[in-house]
Amino acid sequence: MEFRKELEISKILIGGKVEESAVEIRYDPLTLQTSRIVKKSLPMDVSGDFEEEITSSKTWCPFCNERVENLAARDPEIMKGDIWKRGECLAFSNIMPYSKYSLVLRIADEHYLRLSDFKRSHFFDAFKLVQEYLSKLPEQKLYITIGMNYLKSAGSSVMHPHIQLVISENATDFFARLEWSAFEFMEQNGKDYWTALVEKEKEGERYIGRTQKTDWISAFAPKGFYHFLGVPEEKDFAFMSDEQLSGLSEGITKILKFYESKGFNAFNFTFFCGDRIGKHFKTNFHIVARTPFSKYYWCDVFFSKLFHDESITFFLPEDYARELRSVW
Ligand SMILES: [Zn+2]
Repeated sequence: MEFRKELEISKILIGGKVEESAVEIRYDPLTLQTSRIVKKSLPMDVSGDFEEEITSSKTWCPFCNERVENLAARDPEIMKGDIWKRGECLAFSNIMPYSKYSLVLRIADEHYLRLSDFKRSHFFDAFKLVQEYLSKLPEQKLYITIGMNYLKSAGSSVMHPHIQLVISENATDFFARLEWSAFEFMEQNGKDYWTALVEKEKEGERYIGRTQKTDWISAFAPKGFYHFLGVPEEKDFAFMSDEQLSGLSEGITKILKFYESKGFNAFNFTFFCGDRIGKHFKTNFHIVARTPFSKYYWCDVFFSKLFHDESITFFLPEDYARELRSVW
C-alpha cells in the first residue's frame, strides 16, 4: 500500500513580492485516483442566514409529516404500497428512481436540523429499515449504495433530512473501479484492502479513533472537505449487528458535530456496501463537508471534478485528523 504524493510549488507576485504556494497531488492508495490539496484559507461565508429558505421550503416540503402520507411515492412490490416506519424514520419509494430499487428514508420529524441536532437514532433507525428492505430482495448480483445529501450546496433538492438507498444491477463508475481495485489488492496481499488500511493507519497521523465495531480515519487523498472514512468490522450491510449499526451511527454524529464546529452545515456521505460481492470487498463509508449553505453559497464542484474527476480541497488530512481525534 503506497501513500504517494507529489508537490508542486507555484510562484505568484503580490504587492511587489514573490510568494510561493504549495500544491499537493495525492494518489488514492487503492484506486490511484488523484486529489489536489491547495493550501489556502477558504473564502467562505458561513454567517449567511437562510431562515427564509427554511420557512418557505417548509410550506411545500413533501417529507414533512402533514404531507408525506399523501405525496410519498410507493413501492408496489417489495413494500406492498406501504410506508415503513421506525422511530422518526419513514421509508418510501424515490419519486425519481436512480436504479431498479430506489428508496428515500426520511430520517427526522424536523424539517431542518443543525448538524449538531442529528442523533444516533436518526441513522440507526434508517439503517434498520434498509436492512429490512435488503432482506426482501431477490437473489442476484446487485450493487448497494446508501447515500445522503444535506442542504442545497450538497446537491439536495429537498431540505428535510433524508437518506437514499440505491440498489442497481449496474455498478456506478467509481463503485466498479473500487471493486476491481479491491479484487487486485486481495490477490496481491491476501487480505481485503479496508482491513489492511486500518492496520496500516491505526498508529498513524490519520487515525481518529473507534466507535462500536468501527474504525475512523481521514482519507489520504480526500475527495472533498474533511473527508473521513468509516471502516466497519462486519462485511455485509444486510447482516450487520445492532452494535455495528450503532457504531456507524455514532461515528456519523460525532463527525457532523465536528463539521459544525468548523462552520459547515452541509455534507454528503455514502456507503459502498460489500453485500453480494466477494470477500475482497468490505462495506466502507465516506463522508465530506460541502460549502456551507447560505444565501450566496458557491458550488465547490467545478470543471476539475466534473470533467477531470479530480477533487480539490484546502485542508490537510493529517491536520484535521488531529483536531477530530482530540475531541473524539
Ligand atoms: Zn419537511
